[in-house]
Amino acid sequence: MARLVMKFGGTSVANIERIRNVARHVEREVKAGHEVAVVVSAMSGKTNELVAWVREAANLYDPVEYDAVVASGEQVTSGLLAIVLQSMGLPARSWQGWQIPLLTNDAHGSARITGMRPEGVLAGFGRGEVAVIAGFQGIHEPSGRLTTLGRGGSDTSAVAIAAGLSADRCDIYTDVDGVYTTDPRIVTKARRLDRVAFEEMLEMASLGAKVLQVRSVELAMVHKVRTYVRSSFDDPANPQAGTLICDEEEIVEQQIVTGIAYSKDEAQITLRRVADKPGVAAAIFGPLADANINVDMIIQVVSDDTTTTDITFTVPTADFDRAKVLLESAHDMIGYQSLQGATDVVKVSAIGIGMRSHAGVAAKAFRALADKGINIRAITTSEIKFSVLIDAAYTELAVRTLHSLYGLDKA
Ligand code: ADP
Ligand code: ASP
Ligand code: MG
Repeated sequence: MARLVMKFGGTSVANIERIRNVARHVEREVKAGHEVAVVVSAMSGKTNELVAWVREAANLYDPVEYDAVVASGEQVTSGLLAIVLQSMGLPARSWQGWQIPLLTNDAHGSARITGMRPEGVLAGFGRGEVAVIAGFQGIHEPSGRLTTLGRGGSDTSAVAIAAGLSADRCDIYTDVDGVYTTDPRIVTKARRLDRVAFEEMLEMASLGAKVLQVRSVELAMVHKVRTYVRSSFDDPANPQAGTLICDEEEIVEQQIVTGIAYSKDEAQITLRRVADKPGVAAAIFGPLADANINVDMIIQVVSDDTTTTDITFTVPTADFDRAKVLLESAHDMIGYQSLQGATDVVKVSAIGIGMRSHAGVAAKAFRALADKGINIRAITTSEIKFSVLIDAAYTELAVRTLHSLYGLDKA
């Protein structure tokens, strides 16, 4: 007997028919003798609708109440799945975040999990019940208020619960049959990977592959949760292979580049003719850091006269307006001639543990992109990835070009 966590995303529970299909996957594992905790998302589109209602209700809303509203989508699906399971003769009970409880801090809207008390769910296992857990939500115990874990947070609920229950495996059922070399919705030649190392998956998720929420991968890596991404659309009686997220040592055939990711969530800011003197970088990036704005790519150009320079960097699109206002108000302290911004940009990245031991991997990409007439606005590299910032109009072309360049296209 094993203990399993099975997580089903929004498209997998989009209507009652699909919830019945989910129940059949659960039934298969229960009949095989396993203890099962299921984590469900809201029906697809539901969370977007709830978020839109909150924004319509008030421009500046209380994040505590935002959580009260947006957590409701998961309450519905957890109850519905428990009802369907019961109707099939499988004992089941729904659990909201506060009932488990799954504990979080009070960063409403993107709360961090701080722990869980598994006794209630374990007692349910003892009674032969399937635990059907509402993903995406937890409780900040000191205030007694409900919290949510950020968009895509049910993945993180699932991995945290797998760790908290010492589960043997965490299966993430979604609308694709695993992790691909790039988003299969934009590159038809993308290939499913049998295995991906935790570190690579972490980079892929942080750099835009939304198949797993970044924090779920962090948690899986820290707690060594064997996480398996697979399709909920398989025949429940005949499940197919997916992708195992595992330790690097478990991967036999290592590629130099494992995957390509892209993100439109970044915006570019350029400060022209900034005085080229000590303290200038601190004057620019200090206020942004104080305002909790993450700066990612940074390039500084030394101009001909050597007394001034241009500095380009990126910030999350959501923080673009705030960053501009901050920099404009710090104009006199920094001393620059003009501020230019662009939001129609995309960051395309290549990820692979093999880059550690191979030189010139990124240089090859710069040539290939230039041959396609794609201009690179900024570059960053680190041990196992590099990223380029380009015009958003070239997203698909750039992703496809790099995908072929590194031999990732399926035959
Ligand atoms: P769920 O609702 O099940 O949580 P998501 O929509 O959050 O599903 O994540 C699955 C989607 O992630 C896929 O439909 C796919 O378009 C997208 N995706 C992006 N990059 C990748 C990748 N490298 N491999 C697989 N899917 C990816
Ligand atoms: N329903 C939530 C969202 O759409 C959480 C999730 O699906 O993972 O963000
Ligand atoms: Mg998701």
